[in-house]
Formats: sequence, C-alpha cells, structure tokens
Amino acid sequence: MRTGQALPLRDDLAGREPYGSPQLDVPVRLNVNENPYPPSAALVRAIAAAVAGAAAGLNRYPDRDAAGLRDDLARYLGHGLTGEQVWAANGSNEIIQQLLQAFGGAGRTALGFEPSYSMHPEIAQNTGTRWVPAARDAGDDGFGLDPGRAAAVVGEQQPDVVFLASPNNPTGTALPLAVIEAVCAAAPGMVVVDEAYAEFARDRSRSALDLLPRYERLVVTRTMSKAFALAGARVGYLAAAPAVVRALQIVRLPYHLSAITQAVARVALRHAGELLATVSDLRLERDALVGWLRGRGLAAADSDANFVLFGTFADRHAVWQGLLDRGVLIREVGPPGWLRVTVGTAAEMSAFRAALNDVLAGA
Ligand SMILES: *Cc1c(COP(=O)(O)O)cnc(C)c1O
Repeated sequence: MRTGQALPLRDDLAGREPYGSPQLDVPVRLNVNENPYPPSAALVRAIAAAVAGAAAGLNRYPDRDAAGLRDDLARYLGHGLTGEQVWAANGSNEIIQQLLQAFGGAGRTALGFEPSYSMHPEIAQNTGTRWVPAARDAGDDGFGLDPGRAAAVVGEQQPDVVFLASPNNPTGTALPLAVIEAVCAAAPGMVVVDEAYAEFARDRSRSALDLLPRYERLVVTRTMSKAFALAGARVGYLAAAPAVVRALQIVRLPYHLSAITQAVARVALRHAGELLATVSDLRLERDALVGWLRGRGLAAADSDANFVLFGTFADRHAVWQGLLDRGVLIREVGPPGWLRVTVGTAAEMSAFRAALNDVLAGA
C-alpha cells in the first residue's frame, strides 16, 4: 500500500519520513552537536526562580514581540545592533521556517551549497519552496567555497533565498567574508548565513554580522542550542535589517515564544560568561581531536565548530555501528565514507578514541 494512501496528505509530503537522528540511550552521545556541560547548580536555581516568576503570570499571553529578550540578544551580539534588528523563535529551525514562509514558498526557490545542514532543504520542502542544490568545492584541502564560483551559481540560478552555513555543518568549515560578500552582491533575493556555531570558530572576528550595515537582504541566524548549552530550551534568533524583522512578524504565529522560554533565555544571557566558558575547553578538545585523528592516519576536516568530520571508510556504517556497540553514538552524515563526531567532555573524547581504536583494530 502506498504511504499516505489512507490520508489526504499533500503529494509532495507522501512517503517522507520525519527528520531526526536516532535518540538512543547510550553512555556517550556525540551525535547532535550538543554542548556536553549541563547548567551549574547556581544557574539551575536562577532558571527555576525565573520560571516561577513567569508562572505567576501564565494566565496572560506572553509578550508577542519578546521585546526584552530581543534587546538582551542584541546586546549579546554587539556590533551596535538594537532589538529592532533582532528576532527570536523556538530554535533557529523555526527562524529558518519563518524566513522561508516569508521569502520562499510556492513558485519560489532556495539554494544551498552541499554538503550542508539538511534542515535547510527539509524546511524548504515543507514550505513548498523548490530546493536547488549546489556543490561546495571538493578539494583535498577541505570543503570550501570559491567566491567567484559561488557568485556565478547564484547569478545563474537566481534563487529567492540562498543559505550559507558558516561554520558549516557537517564539514566544520568557516567561510571567508569574501564569499558572503560575493554571494550578497550576486543574489537577487535574501542571503541567510547560518552561524549556529559562530562561538566555536577559531577566528571569531569574521562574523557576517560585520556585513549587515552594507546588505539590506542579509540575515544572520544564531542559536542558543550549541555554545550556550541550552538545546532543551529551544531558542534561536537572527540579526537583520528592521524591515526583515517586520516581514517575519507577518508570518509568525501570535505568541509563538512562550513566557517560560523568554524568561529562561534571558536568565541564560545574564549568565553568558559562565555558559560560554565551556566553549574554550571544547575548542581545545576539538583541535586535539583533529590532531589525534590525523596522527592515526585518518582524514579530518579542519573544524571551526564543536564537531569533526573524519574518515574515510569503505564501510562507514560498520564503523558507526562498531562505535555504537561500544556505547559511543556518533552521526552517519556527510559525503560518502565520512562520519561526524561531536566534541564532548575530555572523558567522552577518551571513550571515543578508545572505541575507535578498538573498532579499527578489529576491521
Ligand atoms: C544545530 C544547528 C542549528 C540549530 O538549530 P536549533 O533549532 O536552534 O536547535 C541551526 N543550524 C545549524 C547549521 C545547526 O547545525
């Protein structure tokens, strides 16, 4: 029987599976790029107090515009940004969905350079936006993107929305600002730079936020899920021209961001120093991991994120399964032969190294 036959599901959704990597209960989970450090006891208490404060007003709808949170996020981003240039939602995935609802949709196209974040094409499809895949450069030295070629592809395809992830998932590659500038100059529509991993970059001085004053149609998306160690709270945001924020306010559901979420995010931002302190440990652990993998004779892509793409394996699934059998869950994603491992605590990384040694010795 054809999937969806019983239900009048949209033709373009028939046969599709829900997106998501396996949520398995194993000792070492290094598969979805979470920050391995839970909030401190003091932060848990501060969050609980803020939730209690918000709970006392739960008979009322939340601030529809999340004005306080947006001001706080603007202050965190710096670059002279104000709350008018910032928008927040339930994870940056919801931000991407709102962007495609406003600027994509039926009869429109969105383009991305693959391999990249699979939610960009997923959300494009869900919103009826035609997805146009383009390729990143495939050099021996990694997974970059030549500015001239990127601009030429965009000029030829004329997409309504271009996605550039920097640092990119799953390769870990940060784009030089010249690539983003070239794409902005060539693009007829919106250019969305997904900076979910910005805080992990080796050179954090090159954010696309620098380019916002020059490009009206540029959008920079960020998340509290990774560096801020707040994946469970579901908070993502963007910075763009105020007109872009007003466009998203047309498509957002009223009261989309709960009073609880707004309160939790604001407490986390007040504790930004403590939360982001884990980032420098993770960066060191990442660089050590890249060195270890290469020392072991494997390929490892240079990473500006909290994960490393490594390989290559004739049977990557067997390596993934071997690690899982030893209690280590990583992600089977990326170009053929490659695997992606999230950077965890020192103890988790030594468990990963021991398991990988064991798997490769047996192969
Ligand atoms: C993890 C990730 C996100 C974050 O999604 P949230 O919905 O904010 O949790 C966004 N973009 C990329 C490229 C990611 O890897």
